[in-house]
Amino acid sequence: MPYVRVAFPVPLRQTFLYSVPEHLVPAAVPGAEVRCPFGARERRGFVVERVETADRAGVKAIAGVVGDTPTFAPELLRLCLWIADYYLAPIGRVLASALPGGLEGFGGSRARKGAASAPATVATPANGERPRLTQAQKDAVAAVSDALGAGAYAGFLLHGVTGSGKTEVYLECAEACRRSGRQALVLVPEIALAHQVVAAFRSRFGERVGVLHSSLAVGDRRATWQRARQGGLDVVVGARSAVFAPLPALGLVVVDEEHDPAYKQSEQIRYHGRDTALVRARLANAVAVLGSATPSLESWANAERGKLRRLGLPERIDGRPLPVVELVDLNERPREDRALFSAALLDGLGGALARGDQALVFLNRRGHTRVVECEDCGEVSSCPSCDVALTWHSSDATFRCHYCDRVEAARPACAKCGSPFFKHRGSGTQKAEKELKAHFPEARVLRLDSDSAKPRGAQGDILAAFGRREADVLLGTQMIAKGLDFHGVTFVGVVSADGSLHLPDFRSGERTFQSIVQVAGRAGRGRQPGRVIVQTRAPEHPSLTAAQAHDFAAFAAREASFRRDLGYPPFGRLVALTFSGADEDKVIAAAKQVAQAVRAARDGWQAKAGERGAAPEGALELLGPAPSPLPKLRDRHRWRLTLKDRDTRRLHAVARAAVDCVEAGGEFKLPAGVALAVDVDPYDVL
Ligand code: ADP
Ligand code: ZN
Ligand code: ZN
Repeated sequence: MPYVRVAFPVPLRQTFLYSVPEHLVPAAVPGAEVRCPFGARERRGFVVERVETADRAGVKAIAGVVGDTPTFAPELLRLCLWIADYYLAPIGRVLASALPGGLEGFGGSRARKGAASAPATVATPANGERPRLTQAQKDAVAAVSDALGAGAYAGFLLHGVTGSGKTEVYLECAEACRRSGRQALVLVPEIALAHQVVAAFRSRFGERVGVLHSSLAVGDRRATWQRARQGGLDVVVGARSAVFAPLPALGLVVVDEEHDPAYKQSEQIRYHGRDTALVRARLANAVAVLGSATPSLESWANAERGKLRRLGLPERIDGRPLPVVELVDLNERPREDRALFSAALLDGLGGALARGDQALVFLNRRGHTRVVECEDCGEVSSCPSCDVALTWHSSDATFRCHYCDRVEAARPACAKCGSPFFKHRGSGTQKAEKELKAHFPEARVLRLDSDSAKPRGAQGDILAAFGRREADVLLGTQMIAKGLDFHGVTFVGVVSADGSLHLPDFRSGERTFQSIVQVAGRAGRGRQPGRVIVQTRAPEHPSLTAAQAHDFAAFAAREASFRRDLGYPPFGRLVALTFSGADEDKVIAAAKQVAQAVRAARDGWQAKAGERGAAPEGALELLGPAPSPLPKLRDRHRWRLTLKDRDTRRLHAVARAAVDCVEAGGEFKLPAGVALAVDVDPYDVL
């Protein structure tokens, strides 16, 4: 009798053996959704493999197969198996999260064919209007088209400065892909910011473009998913999870702004969208194009190693100059001068407004002020659940925790000493908005941050209004720094470059470089040249001087040598284990116990390597256990254990063995009330 291994959407990495009754054999293939007896009830799961014999007696039989075609094509099933294996994630959860809206109700909705609401695509007539490609664009398109013609996997890194016309290259490549009868998948870091990319694809491919992202209604996502699966779409554009879009003949995978940390999922299944996209392209014999003005060190290293072929767009369209970036040293002004905007920034902004141009003001902190401190005793108003300062929101006179969303009314006096006097530190966008209006009462200012973007669709509306020039200044967080192509912007002011410089993160220099180059890159994209003012207390910092000079190569060389010395990615890899729970002693004990399991696994691996005669290179470093930089979050204490190794195979083998030990439930079983989050290639250091 044939058997299958079935994965259920539960937090377990194991799969379960079932037998297959004769009449279900043709349908119960890998990728099929099945109903199975599970404990006292019936559960839906997915067949991940067929096996010929059972290793034990009394195996239960599956009860039925849902639908008439397998939910997952072999290529997507293999992709999910890779994710589960590489990220040490439960396979059933991976499969469920690969479906639009998860597993719940999925089979049901498929049975009701046509019942779902209209697809999220809006028919935009394809207008044949296209610019003449520059030579650099032509060369890039030709290289990708050749690879498409060869029909085998190839990976490219498209390094094009801001405003060099990368989108046009993606469009032409997608066109070549369509001509070869295949489909293209285009990933963007955040869909709301990528409306321009979506619009560009719609104007070229009309209604054969599908959009997939998690803030669309589930019914719409399912409809798009079905259409894609049936071959009704030429292009799917989407955020991270669109990497799972079912396309019958995937030919091209584009990852726009490939450096963006938003590609890494930071909860549940902690996969990296870019890395997963590369694996998917490989499994589909497709061509991958990673594009960025500020490539990640990981992709840069892959280009140096020849794993990715480099394509360059070194100049802006029409020979437009890159913006002139000036660093303003905040140390030079008197200490008591706490004004948010320096004279240079105000001058630049005033100049743009006087010319009738538009401007961006970037401040990566929302709210009014980050720290409110008692003048008399120094007590900081902080969140009792999270151990972090509460942010003051002047718009509705509340204290808010940015980690757990706790909201408190304003306090008339210090909770500790009763003093009514408070000191505010660390200004945010709400305060900046007020100050801007005070300096430029005539200017029309729009603020974009996650508070103002809260109502559904607000983000798109704000950006569209700015695009129609209904405002002069767009003030905002990270949300204004990405991918926007507004030709009226000639000035960009960065209120502080320092916030990201001092994070306890080996990527802090890279993040700072990227965000300055990206936000600066919004200036001067039209006919008028751009000017950028960056305020900082660290004007000598190499990430800032490299950003000022638009010198990616200099930045990358320096950054690479630092990471090589310390064994950080891309020269080594990390696995972070975060333990959390209400009882801190239990959390610490669990972390120590798992550290033991890791050491045991490391010794085991070393011994085996010794037997094979392979001299182990370097060592696997075990950092911690130590309190996480955010030691308490939502009433849970958090401790971290980090594994670091230059030998990726050893790192994964040891991490896997340790996690297996914990899950096996023996001496390393976690105590009740303590949770373990495993993060392979972590980006979130807090
Ligand atoms: P990037 O993504 O590289 O920052 P975009 O793709 O947004 O740049 O392109 C910048 C601008 O240049 C866009 O307005 C785009 O329509 C325009 N553009 C792109 N290619 C050409 C071209 N070959 N000729 C004229 N304009 C172009
Ligand atoms: Zn006080
Ligand atoms: Zn909180």
